Amino acid sequence: METTTTAVMSARGVVKHFGGVRVLDGVSMDVMAREVVVVVGPSGSGKTTFLRCLNHLETMDEGEILVHGRPVGYRPGSERLVEERPKVVAERRRDIGFVFQRFNLFPHLTALENVAVAPAKVLGLSKSEACERAHALLARVGLAHKASARPSALSGGQQQRVAIARALAMKPALMLFDEPTSALDPEMVGEVVEVMKELAEEGTTMIVVTHEMGFARSAADRLVMFDQGVILEEGPPEKLMTDPDHARTRAFLHRIN
Ligand code: ADP
Repeated sequence: METTTTAVMSARGVVKHFGGVRVLDGVSMDVMAREVVVVVGPSGSGKTTFLRCLNHLETMDEGEILVHGRPVGYRPGSERLVEERPKVVAERRRDIGFVFQRFNLFPHLTALENVAVAPAKVLGLSKSEACERAHALLARVGLAHKASARPSALSGGQQQRVAIARALAMKPALMLFDEPTSALDPEMVGEVVEVMKELAEEGTTMIVVTHEMGFARSAADRLVMFDQGVILEEGPPEKLMTDPDHARTRAFLHRIN
């Protein structure tokens, strides 16, 4: 068990504009080892943009993001430098796993290959080592029997579970989930939430943007409410759900519950 008090991820004053709109208005967040943070908030409040800044998918305009105390992501003013050094980005990005709303699996690869490709290419594992790791991860998400299936032959829930296995394959320090169940048919939400709950119980450090309040209630250590590009309030899920400080939090959580 980790004894360090250093945050796995520390974001300080992250600001991001799109056009003239200040989409993130100074967001700061620390995530400690084994912590499960659930992020909620109205559509357009900046949740996805924040996750994308954490994983270098967007450049931030101001602020700083540290993983294990080291700067990651594009630092303001250094975009060109980082763009010129994609290897540096890949190196830093591998500490963070990302699960997208729409799975984003490689369509021409099997489930096993989807999971094995990054460990082989980025970590330099041998083909057999990468396959062994991928097999174990597919088993962990309940899909050992689908190893040779291509994404088109899998249900949405199965594809999302492969995507989770793929993100885990890099053994990231932090897993980010961006509304992982919102593109799924309702009957498939449960199987993906179940996998996420297991990861949470195993001590995976994660930030999950989701409106699945059952997951938040049972798995989250902290619930964070985004509103108009800032963190409006945060705290234990039960506190925000029953006795929030802000009327907007109450109204929002009431609406999605
Ligand atoms: P949320 O995840 O909370 O729904 P987003 O982070 O997706 O919010 O979006 C925040 C705001 O930024 C929205 O107004 C959205 O339209 C805008 N936005 C997001 N991505 C882009 C982009 N690539 N270009 C322009 N505007 C964007």
